[in-house]
Order: sequence, then C-alpha cells, then structure tokens
Amino acid sequence: MTTKDIVLDHVSIRFGSYTAVDNAHLTIQGGEFFSFLGPSGCGKTTLLRCVSGFSEPTEGRVLIGGKDMKGVGPNKRPTALIFQNLALFPLMSVAENIAFPLEVRGVSRKERRKRADELLDMIALPGVGDKKVHELSGGQRQRVAIARALAVEPDILLLDEPLSALDLKLRHHMRTELRAIQQRVGLTFIYITHDQGEALTMSDRIAVMNAGVIEQIGDPESVYNRPKTSFVASFVGETNAIEGKVVLQSGEMVTLETPLGPLQGKAAGGRRYKNGDSCYLFIRPEQMELKADAEAPNTIAASVTKEEFEGNSRILFVSANGVDMRVTRVNRGGSDGMVTGHAVTFAFDPAHATVLPHGQLAGA
Ligand code: ATP
Repeated sequence: MTTKDIVLDHVSIRFGSYTAVDNAHLTIQGGEFFSFLGPSGCGKTTLLRCVSGFSEPTEGRVLIGGKDMKGVGPNKRPTALIFQNLALFPLMSVAENIAFPLEVRGVSRKERRKRADELLDMIALPGVGDKKVHELSGGQRQRVAIARALAVEPDILLLDEPLSALDLKLRHHMRTELRAIQQRVGLTFIYITHDQGEALTMSDRIAVMNAGVIEQIGDPESVYNRPKTSFVASFVGETNAIEGKVVLQSGEMVTLETPLGPLQGKAAGGRRYKNGDSCYLFIRPEQMELKADAEAPNTIAASVTKEEFEGNSRILFVSANGVDMRVTRVNRGGSDGMVTGHAVTFAFDPAHATVLPHGQLAGA
C-alpha cells in the first residue's frame, strides 16, 4: 500500500431513495492511470466527489494510502481536482495562475516563481510564465490547469471530463499529452469520461459504469475484446448486437438460433448456457467480411440501406430479416460497388463474435 493507493470499500451513495453509486468495490494502485467510463448520469462525478472529499459515501469507506478518509475535508486530502471548466484567472500571468495555490499557502514570491517554472518544464511549456492566459491555445491552457493542480504536490490527480470543452483534434492531441504528463510525474490519475476513445487510449485500467454499477474493470484490451456484459459490449466501441436463443454449446463455442439463421460465437468468460437461454451475439463491424461463398458458416445475406463515408473507411448500414447491422469497409480508393440497394453477403469468424446473456444495451 502506497500513499497514492485508493480503496473504495463497498461504497454506495444515495440521494434519498435514489442510488447514484451502488456498492463500488475496487483498489486503484499508486501511479495508475485509472478511468471511470460510462454514459451521462451513471454516477461517475458522484463517485469522484467522494474521493475528493466534497461528499461522503452513504455506505462503505474511501481509503487513501490505507487511511480512512471519513471526515477528512477536500483540503486535507492528498488529492487535486481538475474540471472541464478550468477556471484559470484571465488577468493573471500563466506563472501567477500556476503558483496561486502556493500564494494562498503563504509561499514566498521567489519560491513561487521557481516552482511555476519547474512545473512549466514538466508540462512541456517552458518560457510562457509571463504570458497572459488568453494568449495561450486551448490545449496549452489545459496543461496550465494541470500544472496549477500539481503545484500543491498532490499524490492523486482527479480529472472530471477535462477535455470535453476542446475541439476534436485538440482532444486527440491532449490524450497523448495527458498520458505523457502522468508518466512523467508518476502520480495516480483518476479520469472520468463518457468518451470510450479517451478511456481506451490513456488508461492502465478502466471501470465501466452503468446506472451506478461498475459492470467491468480491466485493461483497455480486455474491456474491448472480452466484455463481460451486454452493456459493456455495446458501450465500448461500435458493435452489432444480434438476438437469439441458445441451441447448442460445445466447449466455448455457442450456436444461437437468430432471425438470420444459426450463428456461432464464443461464450464470454467461460460461461455455460442452457438450450433456450436468451442471448446476444456481438460482432464488430470491422469483423464482418464480404463473402461470395454463401455456404460458409456465419453467413448473412443482407441489403445495403445506407452508406456513410468516413475518410479512411466507409460504413455500410445493412439489413436482413428486420435486423440492422453495420459493416466497416476500409477505403482503399475506387468504388467497391457496395451502394445503397445492393445485395451483399458477408460472414464473420465465430472466434471474433462474443455471446453474452441478454441484458441492457447502451443507449437502449
Ligand atoms: P455526467 O457525465 O452527465 O456528469 P455522471 O456519470 O457524472 O454524469 P453524476 O453527476 O454522478 O453522473 O450523477 C449520477 C446521478 O445522481 C444522476 O442521476 C444525478 O441526477 C444524480 N445526482 C447527482 N447529484 C445529486 C444530488 N446532489 N441530489 C440528487 N441527485 C443527484
């Protein structure tokens, strides 16, 4: 256990009879980049407020560095919080902004400036200390806000959707920057986002939340490739969800009877199903391969209902027997003739399809 470890010990948070966080139980290791990922309203911010000390759990405990934080206020915790709204002071210089928390603590002007310059080096913005905040770009301001949070030398940085006000390109750039800063300073970062791309690219581990419940914790690859629930499968990355009933399980291979005929996929997490169980088969759009051979297993004949051009790829929206699906085609230039109204046959490898018990889908 280090001073940067955080334990959420069976934490529930209720507002009256409404449960915003339901029995969160996990340990975040010191130095980890840990994200809470989930849709709006799933309880991410409520949980973060409990770690930062702005609220207390209704049940359970928050431990930081092995110490129970009950009754310990935000200023007394080894945490610093960064919001989407950065709240930098526009009339102060960059250095004054960064050193502001130190001024409040009575640190001398000379020492403050020295620390601000060190922090500007750390966020890879040397020499901008005398500039005014409005002279910086959005991404630079974001880094200044991080430097200001680091000025008080926290062990843990809490980031609540810090990139959501930035434009798309800058947001992508800042993912790399944030990860680099975290690795440089070696602190625990707890990051809150509804953007799966952010969570997947930056995190050591991700907790996926749905309606107050943590449904899965794992590294980005396991959450993406081995989802444990229908919600996680449908929230993290694009996927097709095909409903069916189990007719056979042989080892980890499950056959479902679906409106598209029998389809096979792998039982997630070594599950055993009974014949007749209601399930979803999840297959990613990039795993759907166009096939001429209609006899191959997992073959679906469909028609193209719409196309979307995305630059490096095209999305075909296809429909078969009332089931709507997406197929991704890499754009290699030229036309593949797969236009709206066209009949297509495609197939997928059962090893790339995941079968999970019927459950709530994201956005449903
Ligand atoms: P977002 O991404 O939109 O910020 P979130 O996942 O952070 O969403 P929370 O802000 O944690 O969600 O809210 C979780 C649920 O708890 C919401 O339904 C919200 O309305 C409710 N809630 C949050 N704070 C309070 C409060 N002080 N009183 C009553 N209900 C609250």
